[in-house]
Amino acid sequence: MRDVIIVGAGPGGSATAKHLAEKGYNVALYEKRQEIGAPKRCAEGFSLTGIKEFNLNPPENCIRQKINGSRVYTPNGNFVEVDYEVDGGCILERKVFDKWLAEEAVRKGAKVQAKTTITGLLKENGKVVGVKGEFVGEKFEERCKVLIASDGIESKISRMAGLNTTCSPKLVDSGVQFEMAGIDIEDPKKIYLYLGNKIAPRGYCWVFPKGKDVANVGIGILGKHDIPAIKYLERFVESREELKKGSILEVNSGGIPVGGLLQKMCLDNFLVVGDAAHQVNPIHGGGIYEAQFAGRIAAEVVDEALKKADTSEKQLDKYNKEWWEKRGNYLREVELLREVFEKLSDEDFNFLSKNLKGENLVDFCGGNNLMILGKLLMKRPHLIKFAKALF
Ligand SMILES: Cc1cc2nc3c(=O)[nH]c(=O)nc-3n(C[C@H](O)[C@H](O)[C@H](O)COP(=O)(O)OP(=O)(O)OC[C@H]3O[C@@H](n4cnc5c(N)ncnc54)[C@H](O)[C@@H]3O)c2cc1C
Repeated sequence: MRDVIIVGAGPGGSATAKHLAEKGYNVALYEKRQEIGAPKRCAEGFSLTGIKEFNLNPPENCIRQKINGSRVYTPNGNFVEVDYEVDGGCILERKVFDKWLAEEAVRKGAKVQAKTTITGLLKENGKVVGVKGEFVGEKFEERCKVLIASDGIESKISRMAGLNTTCSPKLVDSGVQFEMAGIDIEDPKKIYLYLGNKIAPRGYCWVFPKGKDVANVGIGILGKHDIPAIKYLERFVESREELKKGSILEVNSGGIPVGGLLQKMCLDNFLVVGDAAHQVNPIHGGGIYEAQFAGRIAAEVVDEALKKADTSEKQLDKYNKEWWEKRGNYLREVELLREVFEKLSDEDFNFLSKNLKGENLVDFCGGNNLMILGKLLMKRPHLIKFAKALF
């Protein structure tokens, strides 16, 4: 009998496995893909603060490019720039980083196994007591005291356990990306974002450099549109001289839950972490940090529960409380901002680019000083009712 089984070896699963194995628990982490981290479904942007905060010490080949700022373009071609003097972020090589995170879990004592799909759950008296799985075609069953679902946006495990974590399609961004080479990047230490309803309705396009002539070029858009996200991305690439001459080395796609934060993320013997629990920053769609942050809280709560030999929903509810206190309330603020941004026309974006500074954008993405944005939007009569939400 395992103490803990974790389903899905993304950043959420590996971080949780590492923390629990470090505390001495018998942990298994199962991943359905044949190679952890591949194919990537990510623009690979991460903060160096996150690396420090989680005490990560990744080998150099996990980080492709250090980043010291960003440039946000509005439809009229103007931009707002953020220029940190020091490196604040990076573009990871997730195929290497995710695998390294799993290696770290193994180093602390967890058992990690790829090409292992969890296909069902073992239950007694309605409570989860283990998993049914398949490793390279061979079926197995395994019991555990606690099961953690970190199985990403396509999560099925929570629903099998009895927790409805379905994210409304209205709150799932369609993300598509080309990893491109042979392109020109003005400054590889900056990330580039492009706003505009014609380019990316209810979303944005991005260029995240992985060197001076390689980048993740992608789009994330919310809701149904006349053409699919990939067509918008093709149009965007064609419209830019510095990109259209490039080659496509990879095509990546995936859904990004940008809302619908869950109040309840546990049951008896069970909890859910990361994208599977919609723990993503609703404005920019970043979830690498959020999954690891939640994994750390989950490990603390499970540790306490196992020590008390009480893994009931009541005991594990501490995870809901702590996550909401430390992350959820802040992410809800950011979600409000996204809701307002969705209402902006191209003229509104152009107006904002004239009136905002780079530091303001950084603040807003962190859910801070939203009043400044609220006051500006109050000057646009059609936006008054949305602007009020920001006070
Ligand atoms: C196009 C795109 C761009 C993005 N860009 C960024 C970015 O720049 N920065 C950022 O921070 N975030 C970004 N994200 C989001 C980020 O990729 C996720 O938030 C992050 O990977 C979540 O980690 P996780 O561990 O919760 O889930 P995941 O990384 O999705 O891992 C879940 C794992 O569970 C496995 N799994 C699923 N079901 C089973 C099963 N039944 N049995 C076994 N294994 C299973 C899956 O194969 C998967 O490996 C982007 C997402 C997309 C789609």
